[in-house]
Amino acid sequence: MLQLYMPLHFLGFVYREIKHSLADMEKMFGLLAEHEEIKDKPGATDLIPGNAAVRFEDVNFSYEPNRQILFDVSFDIPAGGNVAVVGHSGSGKSTLARLLFRFYDVSSGRILINGQNISDVTQKSLRAAVGIVPQDSVLFNDSIYYNIAYGRPEASRDEVLEAARSAHIHDFVESLPDKYETTVGERGLKLSGGEKQRVAIARAILKKPAILIFDEATSALDSKSEKSIQAELKRVATNRTTLTIAHRLSTIVDADQILVMDKGRIAERGNHRELLAANGAYSYMWRLQQQEEQTRLQLLDNMRLE
Ligand code: ATP
Repeated sequence: MLQLYMPLHFLGFVYREIKHSLADMEKMFGLLAEHEEIKDKPGATDLIPGNAAVRFEDVNFSYEPNRQILFDVSFDIPAGGNVAVVGHSGSGKSTLARLLFRFYDVSSGRILINGQNISDVTQKSLRAAVGIVPQDSVLFNDSIYYNIAYGRPEASRDEVLEAARSAHIHDFVESLPDKYETTVGERGLKLSGGEKQRVAIARAILKKPAILIFDEATSALDSKSEKSIQAELKRVATNRTTLTIAHRLSTIVDADQILVMDKGRIAERGNHRELLAANGAYSYMWRLQQQEEQTRLQLLDNMRLE
C-alpha cells in the first residue's frame, strides 16, 4: 500500500507545485509584460525598516519616453503616520504606490525609507517591509488557507486563523463545507469583492509590514461592508506608516495629511479641515461627493416609501 501511496503522494506534490508556479507565472507575466524586471544593484544591502519613515524627494517618473507621469513629487510620511492621496482618475495616485514598492525605478529624485534609498536595498528586504492591500486582490487557485498564509508562509496555523479573525473573514470561512481548505480563485469558489479584500487584509495582518499601502477599491462595496472594512483597516494601520490611495473622501477625513494629485503634480496638501478652509480643488470634490451621497440616500428613502 505504501508503495502505491508514495508515488501518488509525490505526484500530488508535483501537481501542487506546478499549480502554484503557474499562478505565480501568470502574475509574473502580467508584470513582465508591463515593464522590465527591476534588479538589485551590485552590493545592495538589506533595508533596515526601523521606524519606517517614508520620504519622496523630487520624484519624476515616466513609464514610457516622452510621456512624463509624475512631476517633482515630494512628501513625507512620518513613522507611524498616515498619508492619503486623492485626485482624478489617471492623476498618478497608484503610480506612487507602485514606486514605493519598487515595481519601477524613479526617473529622477529619491524615495527613502528610514533614510535609505529604496533603489540601493535588496528587493526581498524592501518587499518584506511593505504590505499592499490592492484594489482588486489576485487570489491563487488554491485554498483560502494558502491564500492568507502567503503573507508569511512560515506562520503557524494559529497565527493564520488569528489574522483571519482580525480581518473578520473567519466566521465566513468556517461556514463553508471545506472551511479553510476551500479552493478559491479563477477556478475555485468566486468570492465577492468585499470577501477578497478581507483575504488581502488578513494576508497583510499576518505579514505585519512596517509600511502599509492600501489602494481603495474604485467600485463601492455596500455601505455596511465598506464601514466594517474601513474599521478593520484602521486597526491594521495603527502604529504603521500608511499610504492610502482613496477614491471616496469620506474614508480619509482622519488622515494626518491628504495629497491632492492633479496631472502628476501635488496640487494641494493639508489635513481635511485645512483643505476645506483653503476652498480649492479638495473642497470642491468634497462638496460634490456630499451632494452625490445625499441624492443617493434620498433615492433609497423614496424607494422605501413606495
Ligand atoms: P485611478 O484613480 O483611475 O486608479 P490613478 O490616479 O491611480 O488612476 P495611475 O494608475 O497612477 O492613475 O496612472 C497615471 C497615468 O499613468 C495614467 O495616464 C496611465 O495611463 C499611465 N499608466 C499607468 N500604468 C501605465 C503603464 N504600465 N504603462 C504606461 N502608462 C501607464
